[in-house]
Amino acid sequence: MKNKLIAANWKMNLSAVQSAELFKQCASLAQTVPSDLIICPPATYLQMGNSMLESSGVHLGAQNVNQNLAGAYTGELSASMLKDCGCAFVIIGHSERRTQFNESDEIIAAKVKAAIENSLTPILCIGESENQRTLGLTNSFLTYQIDSALSLVDKTQMKNLVIAYEPIWAIGTNKTPSIAQIQQTMTTIVKHMYKKYGENFTDSSVHMLYGGSVSDTNCQAILSLDVVDGCLVGGASLNFEKFEKICQAS
Ligand code: PEP
Repeated sequence: MKNKLIAANWKMNLSAVQSAELFKQCASLAQTVPSDLIICPPATYLQMGNSMLESSGVHLGAQNVNQNLAGAYTGELSASMLKDCGCAFVIIGHSERRTQFNESDEIIAAKVKAAIENSLTPILCIGESENQRTLGLTNSFLTYQIDSALSLVDKTQMKNLVIAYEPIWAIGTNKTPSIAQIQQTMTTIVKHMYKKYGENFTDSSVHMLYGGSVSDTNCQAILSLDVVDGCLVGGASLNFEKFEKICQAS
């Protein structure tokens, strides 16, 4: 059985002082919980995270990557730069980037390719809107998002992958699907992965995370689902007491 994976997305939050404190707390938390932890801080704190998390076993992740290897892309960071900062993971396809920064399916596919080719594991975010769920389009939309995001990578590279199912309407809203809906939707995703990627998709390689308003009160029920290998946590990861409870629940 694989360890549960708890990934923290700090988004554009925290000062350097606050980040240092949270890195320190997460480094010691990792010694007491059975799950694997990933911290995705703002890019300016990656170097700090790299030195403060060293030898704690906590992995470092970036919140974004540019799809190009190098060149005239002012303000952007390449996959190899993130590797140099100690990152092992990178969040790709987060709905905030899809909507606020116009990241198309093609850009996301190119980012997944760039990450994998540079030995960074993508945390690929997929998720339906509230309207799509109401119209019964959730499953078809999610399988489309997966196939599109993975269209440029070889099936044999599938082991370097985390998929985070994050319903858009559940992000930062304190609303979540019911436990039965999470189980149903994520089972559909897993079945699709088996059908499409066959032996290259195995339980022991790809981690399937749930994300969207995970809290210290709902984490136990979500993490107890057999189809859920962990969580991607936004808001609650900024509060150490809440984050600790989520990690302990795994
Ligand atoms: C996220 O943005 O990835 C996320 C899961 O946010 P929150 O936990 O705040 O809903």
